[in-house]
Amino acid sequence: MTEAPASTTDDPTVVKRLAPDCTASDLEEGSLYHATVDGVVRYGAFVQLAPDLSGLVHESTHDGERSFEEGDEVVVELLEIKENGDLSFAPADAAGFETVEVEHAYEVTPLADVADREGEAVHVEALVGQVKQTGGPTLFHLADGTSVVPAASFEAAGVRAHPEIGLGDVVHVAGHVDRRDDGVQIEADRVEAIEDEESAAEVRSAIGSRLGEHSAANEVEPLIEWPALAEHVPELERVAGLLRRAVLEHRPIVIRHHADTDGICAAVPVERALERFVEETHTADGASDFMLKRRPSRAPFYDVEDVTRDLSFALEDRARHGQQLPLLVMIDNGSTEEDVPAYRHLDAYGVPVVVIDHHHPDVEAVEPYVTEHVNPYRHGDDYRITTGMLCAELARMIDPEVTESIKHVPAVAGLADRSSADEMADYLALAEARGYNRDDCNAIGDALDYAAYWLRYNGGRGVIDDVLGVTDDRARHEDLVELLSTLAARDIRRQLDAALPHVETETLDNGVRLNTLDVDEHAYRFTYPAPGTTTGAIHDRVVTDHGGPVITVGYGPDFAVLRSDGVRLDIPQMVDDLNDELAGAGVSGGGHLVVGSIKFVPGMREAVLDALIDEMAAAEIDESLGAAAPRTYDVD
Ligand code: MN
Repeated sequence: MTEAPASTTDDPTVVKRLAPDCTASDLEEGSLYHATVDGVVRYGAFVQLAPDLSGLVHESTHDGERSFEEGDEVVVELLEIKENGDLSFAPADAAGFETVEVEHAYEVTPLADVADREGEAVHVEALVGQVKQTGGPTLFHLADGTSVVPAASFEAAGVRAHPEIGLGDVVHVAGHVDRRDDGVQIEADRVEAIEDEESAAEVRSAIGSRLGEHSAANEVEPLIEWPALAEHVPELERVAGLLRRAVLEHRPIVIRHHADTDGICAAVPVERALERFVEETHTADGASDFMLKRRPSRAPFYDVEDVTRDLSFALEDRARHGQQLPLLVMIDNGSTEEDVPAYRHLDAYGVPVVVIDHHHPDVEAVEPYVTEHVNPYRHGDDYRITTGMLCAELARMIDPEVTESIKHVPAVAGLADRSSADEMADYLALAEARGYNRDDCNAIGDALDYAAYWLRYNGGRGVIDDVLGVTDDRARHEDLVELLSTLAARDIRRQLDAALPHVETETLDNGVRLNTLDVDEHAYRFTYPAPGTTTGAIHDRVVTDHGGPVITVGYGPDFAVLRSDGVRLDIPQMVDDLNDELAGAGVSGGGHLVVGSIKFVPGMREAVLDALIDEMAAAEIDESLGAAAPRTYDVD
């Protein structure tokens, strides 16, 4: 708030000159003012002190001894502010005076209160979070730590108003609050950078402390009692705080997630919680459309193709819409060394990254590039705490209101990722309370897997929410799940019919039953189910028929998908060993203890598969791993 200079009423030699936005609140009876005569009438003259401030010099105040002409610059004394607001003046003797400039003294309105002040004049002090040039006015999206409100400033149609003001500046905006078709905004009469260093620092620090307060995560009781999960609460709270802060700073958020059921189960609740928080804190309608992007990654890591896409969209949004570069959230992906090249791309632009994943992490490779890294392996836990379980808590910390709609989601995620945690029983009980038994949860998972396959690079916002069952339309959800899971099961059965006669089985030295299938030769290609789901379905069939321990490998010309039950496979370690053993095999890949995939160069396939099988024959038997409810996809 700008203070008016100290009162100088006692000093008759001071004459005040009012800034153009001054109002009656800036006046003091008895003070002298510079004014312009803007009308002469029979009984006196009207004088103007500022565009919105005029009053009368009645002839009785000077016994008709003074004469006025329109346009005269005069000095007047304010005699009285009448109850009806009229101002009465007298001419003043202005020989030898000193002029003092008077700024309008204003009350700063927090942006969170602007929507309640429709039609009123307001002054706000805020950071510029986006400068968007429209075909009409320039829109400055203002953020003050409580809310984000656009201020429209008009120079000429399509012409950038105030080119001196840019992203990150602290500004004072004066104007009127207006409700339009696309939400509430300030029609700015005045936009100016707060240049005085002391005032700017004061405003920044006030915004900083409000941001700290409003971005703090909501404290929630975890959905189930599970000490291993509870260990992740402090770091999930930090992630929730960073995401809420990005929203309040008007920084876009890109959610990248693995395009499988657990990845979707994790990402969608976070997206929905953020959507609610954006709606709550932004007065522009539909702000979440440009604030939030959710994009699936087909690869089990953040590949260079994905990051190139994300960066080029972000740079285009910055160039065309004046947006800030985004905050990137990696979900059910992002913990491995293979993510590093993509992270280095982001690093070149200073784009921050947070990761929530449950795949075997390469902590040393990844952590230099990520602001927060949530992964159960960092606490000595493993994949059994799925990303969907972690993100259910994260979503609730962002907005607890999502809780009821997502209570079944961790069960869907846990079944899809074959979590064998004892706590699955608690998650299944939560789902049961929402009317979903284990089969229903599996059907949702299958429907998501099927939808994700056809959506490819598209997040499927809206449709995926209905399939997951987090929207209000339960009937549509049930219809969709029934349809998609039936189609998925039909296609999987068709795939099994074609593939099973070609599965080769042998028993390894450690007693593991190993199944292998050339999915390139003996499975339908370029249609659902993809090699990962195909291999999983074969694996489940074998586990159902024979019990464990079992390993299934579905391989193509340059890749292999691995599934295991009752065996401790350390896939990242196997990848290292294969590369040590086989020069020029180019093996890469990863996964968690029971699911993984590797890539290699086609010319080394035989050697890689032979060496892989030797590694598997030496793996440790561990009956606690996997064997969680294999699926059969039987005809109903
Ligand atoms: Mn997962």
